[in-house]
Amino acid sequence: MTGNPLSRRDVVRGAVFLGVGAAAGGLSIAGAPPALAAPDESSVLAVPVPTIASCATWGARSPGSLSVISSSPDKIVIHHTAGANSTTYTQAHAYAMARSIQSFHMDGNGWSDSGQHFTISRGGYIMEGRHNSLARLRAGSGMVVGAHCPGQNDKGIGIENEGTYTSATPPAALYDKLVQFCAYICEQYDIGASRIYGHRDYIATACPGNVLYGMLPQLRTDVAEALAGGGTTPPPAFSTIIDNTTSGRFTASANWLTSSYSAERYGADYRYANPEAISDVAYYKANIPAEGTYRVEAWYPGIAGYNTATPYVVLAKSGSQTVVVDQSTGGGAWRSLGNFTLTAGDKNVVGVSRWSGATGYVVADAVRITRV
Ligand SMILES: [Zn+2]
Repeated sequence: MTGNPLSRRDVVRGAVFLGVGAAAGGLSIAGAPPALAAPDESSVLAVPVPTIASCATWGARSPGSLSVISSSPDKIVIHHTAGANSTTYTQAHAYAMARSIQSFHMDGNGWSDSGQHFTISRGGYIMEGRHNSLARLRAGSGMVVGAHCPGQNDKGIGIENEGTYTSATPPAALYDKLVQFCAYICEQYDIGASRIYGHRDYIATACPGNVLYGMLPQLRTDVAEALAGGGTTPPPAFSTIIDNTTSGRFTASANWLTSSYSAERYGADYRYANPEAISDVAYYKANIPAEGTYRVEAWYPGIAGYNTATPYVVLAKSGSQTVVVDQSTGGGAWRSLGNFTLTAGDKNVVGVSRWSGATGYVVADAVRITRV
């Protein structure tokens, strides 16, 4: 995610937008009834509890002397690790990174343990940093004094986000988990969403990078929305999966060939095509029941040699949003493209574009859309 992704992304967006617009307005497919999930009366009302890997889970070393205090934190401090923007999104990579940070902090800095309270990988894995951080968070009282931000170590929960965000944007998988996790921390400790800060708010540092720092107002808003969701009437549950074989819900030209080569496929097979600078989009149609926020996820078989920059296009209320996905890795699972405001109606909501500057087949397998 280094370099200048915006210039090519803008080109892609412009090109694909024509395709989505034309199809949304011109296509009328008599399809199967929408796969609408039944309303779920037991929908979770409070902030969802995220999965957090403890120090024991990721294989931390025993720490030195730590100080656990009874007073609770009153803020969250956001960091970036200033490390590589890895494109390995696995759990194994996340855990190895946590061990590496701990060793660096202990052996390099001479600290008693990881400095930060928690870490989030670019693949969206949340991990405990300093020992005792997770137990105190679960309890909702007290904290272990950290070593992440002078003056705030006994007041602020420090979160290290894997990567360097001076010019690159955090992946959706990371950002989504950051929102969910901050909401959970705020709920557990009764911290207002407005009290999320960046490392540079307290000391002269580039951390957490211009881009991530610039996203903090949005983060506060998103966390506030997540918190506001708790205790109010939940929106009707809605989740639908559209596979490339779903009748009446998937359209692609004959240029998109069919394969069952990879065992990581969703369902019987998937469609693939060579990248080319033309508007030849594979579309996923869904009947969105009401305007609201929806999580859009993609499933594809991740095969080395498949396209490393496949543009997915989501027809959001604000217009077509392009999310570039590396399909050479991270396949065989639902992968979040992000949360989007979608408007009501039965239409092509997601497209896979062939307009990629990278080599290797672009793949259209399955898409899942879930109201959040
Ligand atoms: Zn920092």
